[in-house]
Amino acid sequence: MAASREITVAYGDGIGPEIMDATLRILDAAGANLKYDVIEIGEKVYRSGIPTGIPQEAWDSLRRTKVFLKAPITTPQGGGYKSLNVTMRKALSMYANVRPVKAYAPYVQTPYPHMDVVIIRENEEDLYAGIEYQLTADTVQANKLISRPGCERIVRYAFEYAKQYGRKKVTCMTKDNIMKQADGLFHQVFDEVAKEYPDIEADHKIIDIGSALVAARPDRLDVIVTLNLYGDIISDIAAEVAGSVGLGGSSNIGEDFAMFEAIHGSAPDISGQGIANPSGLLGGAIMMLVHLGMPEVAEKVRNAWLKTLEDGIHTADIYRPQVSTKKVSTSEFADAVIERMGQAPTRLTARPYAKGQEMRITVTRPAEVPKAIVGVDVYLDWHVDGRNAAVLGPQVEALAGDGLRLHFVENRGVKVYPGTAPLDFLNDLWRCRFVADNGSATATQVAALLGRFADAGLDVVQTATLYTFDGKRGYSLAQGE
Ligand code: NAD
Repeated sequence: MAASREITVAYGDGIGPEIMDATLRILDAAGANLKYDVIEIGEKVYRSGIPTGIPQEAWDSLRRTKVFLKAPITTPQGGGYKSLNVTMRKALSMYANVRPVKAYAPYVQTPYPHMDVVIIRENEEDLYAGIEYQLTADTVQANKLISRPGCERIVRYAFEYAKQYGRKKVTCMTKDNIMKQADGLFHQVFDEVAKEYPDIEADHKIIDIGSALVAARPDRLDVIVTLNLYGDIISDIAAEVAGSVGLGGSSNIGEDFAMFEAIHGSAPDISGQGIANPSGLLGGAIMMLVHLGMPEVAEKVRNAWLKTLEDGIHTADIYRPQVSTKKVSTSEFADAVIERMGQAPTRLTARPYAKGQEMRITVTRPAEVPKAIVGVDVYLDWHVDGRNAAVLGPQVEALAGDGLRLHFVENRGVKVYPGTAPLDFLNDLWRCRFVADNGSATATQVAALLGRFADAGLDVVQTATLYTFDGKRGYSLAQGE
């Protein structure tokens, strides 16, 4: 018999130990031939004074096994505890969050019995970099950082996933009508990569209508690829619409590491009662088996699980007298799945698992292009003289010179000088855009301008140099510019 594959396992908090126990019993019964290195992470570790919730031994195990099956954990409220999931995704560079969301009608109630969507969410970038500043008394800032390689990696992953799983369409969701640089880059990379997959339909939806489709016409969607925050939101909408928060599994995939879990949390309200549905974690474990190159075992487990659902053996969360035959506990549910090992469902259908090689995504680093300084945005904290742009404007304009001229002053994204301010409500953060007289400037000219701001006693809270890349504007225009 081949040596068993070692994986790292965390039993987690709340219902975690109950559903993990059920899941591992099922994997063992299917002959998965896995060895479990059990680590402690989560609530107890947080409370022992480790603010990440992850002790050194856990990192050591993960770096060795590279595959992690994780039960949900409880993040204690207050006390500045960091989300363990976000820490792990970033530390182990797990860039893709994959959440298949499928309807299991009529056994699980849903208005969309044909829903079968996979959401592929970028996991590392966007607002989740957690870079935030208070700039003035009125204003805080959160930085949304999007990189071309980051976009390319997740978009390629989505197309490769679609190819491997025989999916027909990939829909990209962004808000590039508003965020033309950040979301615009994601959309642009999507269009570029899509050309390499002519057999897969490529589609783009603005995230607002896209979310509405997830909620109201999910049967029109297949694979969705999107940025971190949007993906976070639409995954929960999708799970809710499928009627299956307790049924969904998810994976976090990186170049070297992968983590598999249920999409739900630690459910403290039902913890210790032995009634939780283990299907979400089992779904994560099935994805793990495919990742480990054991698609046959994955299929065997999934078939037995589908047959159990079909036979009406249901935990309390999905139990309905119209379709259920027996209400079972967590461990009785596991027993029922184990009894059906080797059987196949007759009504519920499932796609075959990809038997191809592991997906390796390679990203092309963008070529160096000529970059030129063409101006600078200077952000001021200014709240005197009734916040009157007609007072601030000339004061700032007087600082121009040495090849840089004032282009505009704006407040809350709208140009307020020169010209009359169209805003009724002004806050204390002002952006003053200076541009090069002759089309290009130097860092020395920019530094000298900032010196003149300091000499004038103006409070500069941030600057952003304006560049062109290969002659193309690398910054947004102001509203009304
Ligand atoms: P939750 O998902 O734990 O529970 C929401 C509701 O769904 C509850 O009524 C719960 O009883 C029910 N539920 C969840 N899973 C179920 C299952 N398997 N079977 C039957 N019913 C189930 O969400 P919450 O209450 O907002 O969060 C509880 C804790 O979980 C929090 O500390 C949160 O931080 C944590 N959490 C952890 C993860 C994770 O580790 N990946 C994810 C989400 C939330």
